[in-house]
Amino acid sequence: MEISLLYSGVNALIVLVILSSPYKIIQKPIDFGSLNLLQTTDTASTDFGRLQFNPPASVLKPKTPEDISLLLSFLSSSSFSQVSVSARGAGHSIHGQAQALDGIVIEMSSLPLEIKVHENGEMERGLSYVDASGGALWIEVLKETMKVGLAPRSWTDYLYLTIGGTLSNGGISGQTFKHGPQIANVLELDVVTGKGEMVTCSPTKSSDLFYAVLGGLGQFGIITRARIPLQQAPKKVRWQRVFYDDFESFTKDQELLISIPELVDYVEGFVVLNEQSLHSSSIAFPAHLEFKPEFVKNGRFNVYYCIEFAIHDNQLEGIHVEKIVKEISRMLSYMQSHLYSVEVSYLDFLNRVRMEEKSLRSKGLWEVPHPWLNMFVPRSGISKFMDFLMESISPNEFEGPILVYPLLSDKWNINASVALPRAIETGKERVMYVVGVLRSINPTVCKMDCLNKILHEHQQIAQAASRPHIGARQYLAHHPSRIAWHEHFGSKWTRFAERKAQFDPLHILAPGQGIFPRVTVDLQE
Ligand code: FAD
Repeated sequence: MEISLLYSGVNALIVLVILSSPYKIIQKPIDFGSLNLLQTTDTASTDFGRLQFNPPASVLKPKTPEDISLLLSFLSSSSFSQVSVSARGAGHSIHGQAQALDGIVIEMSSLPLEIKVHENGEMERGLSYVDASGGALWIEVLKETMKVGLAPRSWTDYLYLTIGGTLSNGGISGQTFKHGPQIANVLELDVVTGKGEMVTCSPTKSSDLFYAVLGGLGQFGIITRARIPLQQAPKKVRWQRVFYDDFESFTKDQELLISIPELVDYVEGFVVLNEQSLHSSSIAFPAHLEFKPEFVKNGRFNVYYCIEFAIHDNQLEGIHVEKIVKEISRMLSYMQSHLYSVEVSYLDFLNRVRMEEKSLRSKGLWEVPHPWLNMFVPRSGISKFMDFLMESISPNEFEGPILVYPLLSDKWNINASVALPRAIETGKERVMYVVGVLRSINPTVCKMDCLNKILHEHQQIAQAASRPHIGARQYLAHHPSRIAWHEHFGSKWTRFAERKAQFDPLHILAPGQGIFPRVTVDLQE
């Protein structure tokens, strides 16, 4: 489309003057044509992590993807603007990844919510799928698809995240070992590139952009629609928890469970550090636990582990889920008599973290700082990594879960932008663990110094673990410098940088990730 056409109805001069102002502060809401740039809000400057607060100059609430295209076309062709732009989904990042200091935050939730289910869709050779807008929440997609007995296959633990937000990272949970991450479960995307071009892409159409955007940390384009394959939603889920007092048996059994995907639908696990971690992780699990761990023995801290696994129960196919659970449990070596099994609805199972959220909110412990660290660790390094991690943790003070569960390398598409451990990318190892240190900070107990100390420790752990003896990579990464990003992507850096040059040459998009500084082109040069 001609640029001049795009600008019709837009008072380009006003935008240009304001956006190139050295102060870059928009004092009043501005209405120019169909685009509505609004005064900034507290929400646009913050996120779930509560560690970074970067106010943008302005907020765009788009009514259509064309509004986003209009803005990005304008910025990418105005050679002296320095403004950058961040799409903001649900703002559940930790380190300001969806923020844009002095720039423009696009509130993706303003796009009309469109969730259209296609049963046995003709476009996808009989496969059922859903077309959902980029700002839709996964919970909204689930509720809509379940109306016709269908659901996406691959999830995150928490569902109040947007489609665009998780597809920009990876999207992992207990189903990933079986179906791959969410980024491996996408058929097609509508994307507005950093140049403002609106492109429909898929593995066969503009595939460069398709794979760039998946796991692309918002660097290449803004996802306005995703087409996601669907499967039959089970009626019920049989959900088990088994406990361990040694790490080796815990991981051995997790690996056994992921080796039988024909029987098991979900595998996760977590470290049981203290009473609080046992209690808070059990809020959604409706069983009375007889498990009474001895956390301190002979003056030393004892740590336990819990595997969660689940089996879908369609209740139609004559499969006796109880029998399968019995068969599987015979193969496992958990602490005797500590298997707990419950039956819950599929929705309650997938939406389990919402119950934890409600409980934490009621205690004022949801909107608090979250210095989280997430790592992908090759199997060969997991014991070393855990020893190293646990040295930095005081079990009696730690609040929040530490998740540990295995994923399989062959379920990831290496064309996607996400960085994985080298041993996984090269196929040297097939199993990698995700370790999520999901700490909540009670601000009355842990003040600024204490929070900074934790952040510093995390940085050191991430740095040390990325060296070859462990070979880990951060997931939902946060790095202090471009060099560190370069190391993060390793041999994939060149491709990542080339994709940036192709789709967002002025580095307008997602400045909050801190990867590419904004490019300015001086007209007088
Ligand atoms: P935002 O924080 O709004 O944005 C994240 C990044 O994506 C930013 O760079 C932003 O610019 C970009 N972005 C946002 N929307 C778009 C778009 N439409 N197009 C292009 N770029 C876009 N992750 C997992 O994988 N598995 C989990 O189980 C999991 N559980 C979580 C539980 C909680 C309680 C929280 C807070 C986070 C969890 N996460 C999990 C992490 C989560 O997937 C990421 O933080 C994700 O980015 C959040 O989505 P969002 O919509 O809030 O994105």
